[in-house]
Amino acid sequence: MNTINETTSNNYIEICPGCLACYNQGRLTFYWFQINKETTLEQIQKAMSIEEIHKKAKTPHACGGDEVHIQDNDFGGGEYMLAEELFGLVQLLQLVPNFDYVRAFKDVFLMGDELDVNHEPTQAFEEFAEEVTTFTSRESEENALEDRFVDMFEISDHLYPFINWREVREYMLQDLERAEINGVTYLWKSY
Ligand SMILES: [Zn+2]
Repeated sequence: MNTINETTSNNYIEICPGCLACYNQGRLTFYWFQINKETTLEQIQKAMSIEEIHKKAKTPHACGGDEVHIQDNDFGGGEYMLAEELFGLVQLLQLVPNFDYVRAFKDVFLMGDELDVNHEPTQAFEEFAEEVTTFTSRESEENALEDRFVDMFEISDHLYPFINWREVREYMLQDLERAEINGVTYLWKSY
């Protein structure tokens, strides 16, 4: 487990794009690519192209392959993440106002590490960590939004049939940031 102190310099996430054909032929053709807040979709697409992988790995493109897979990554992502999905993470990184938040996402939420209280996380980090709610299904997310609305406005049961729950959910999402990563949805208060 990484402690907070050890990760303070990592203001990025990393992927390791590799050639699937080479891999299947018993050859590791890959390289590490860093993604930060400034990375564009085009840069990610290029980084994940079969030509770029062979070039960076200094391996001739003799395998004839055209399939790319993410051989490794440093944030618990999947093997077949698309460039668009990875760019979604960039957009997520752009949303978070300071580095504490990036760290919170990467280490605590994406990697599932525990918050190490001995390192006295800053106030912003603590507030953020406490605020984020995670959901593993659409249904649980929707239920939570509806429950919050019911609590907030003290809605009584007999009004339920007259409520447009879809609008309620949209209303409740207005003040929240939302990100979906590998099937998990993260909600937190926007600033
Ligand atoms: Zn190859």
